[in-house]
Amino acid sequence: MLIETHAHIDDKQFDTDRDEVIQRAFSGGVEKIINIGAGLGSSQRSVVLAEKYENIFCSIGLHPHYFMEYGEKSFNKIDEFKALSLSKKVVAIGEIGLDCFIPDGSTITEVQKELQKKGFTKQLEFAKELKLPVILHCRGSRPVAPSQYREADDAYEDVFAIVSQFPELNFVWHSFGGQLSFTEKVLAKENMLFSFAGNITYSKPGAEIFSVIKLIPIERIMLETDCPYLAPVPMRGKRNEPLYVKYVAQKIAEVKNLELGEVAKITTSTAERFFKL
Ligand SMILES: [Zn+2]
Repeated sequence: MLIETHAHIDDKQFDTDRDEVIQRAFSGGVEKIINIGAGLGSSQRSVVLAEKYENIFCSIGLHPHYFMEYGEKSFNKIDEFKALSLSKKVVAIGEIGLDCFIPDGSTITEVQKELQKKGFTKQLEFAKELKLPVILHCRGSRPVAPSQYREADDAYEDVFAIVSQFPELNFVWHSFGGQLSFTEKVLAKENMLFSFAGNITYSKPGAEIFSVIKLIPIERIMLETDCPYLAPVPMRGKRNEPLYVKYVAQKIAEVKNLELGEVAKITTSTAERFFKL
């Protein structure tokens, strides 16, 4: 059985068949799903969804772009957001971090970066207060070419510097895309895990991402889809869903030369421990 640790099934792309998608996952080998908040609205929807299904849990978090969109006003929203944590189904804070990629192609400004850092730090303090683990979102300023993971730029270093100030918290680097040298730095911190999504199936043999996966002990890896985005091969280009986490598990097994059952067992027990499921 697998645990899908990063889904966005509250997304409107699932409005017409959400129940079917969830049932398909649960009858296809997925034991539990963590639905991820990425703003105030999606955090609220994640809690509602988790309250409805026994084996769905959720995180709440304000994505870095949220602070750029609403500016200083967004900090007033943090209290509203904190109220959501009263639900017992909230098992983490995230996805939070830094995102230097602006979809319209413009360059991020220092003011925008500072807003993101302030919002990120405030949420880390909240996680510390609640003793909850943190799901990190980190994206560099250059657009991500799926076949090329050369994104370990300033955003990764900045996130690393900020989270290093919170040694009492546990972290997972979601949809990890850091370079090999950066991976070594993260590995040296015992409170940090990695999770991989469907885009690991896009890379050609020899790509750095595979050396990264080989380097990380299986005990420090969790599986995710990041659905509806990043559908793995053979579903690439389609809408992604939690069931497809099995393709991510298969790829990890292949790269690390492990039995699929072993990958399932170990990643599941890591997720249960990390999120206290
Ligand atoms: Zn996500």
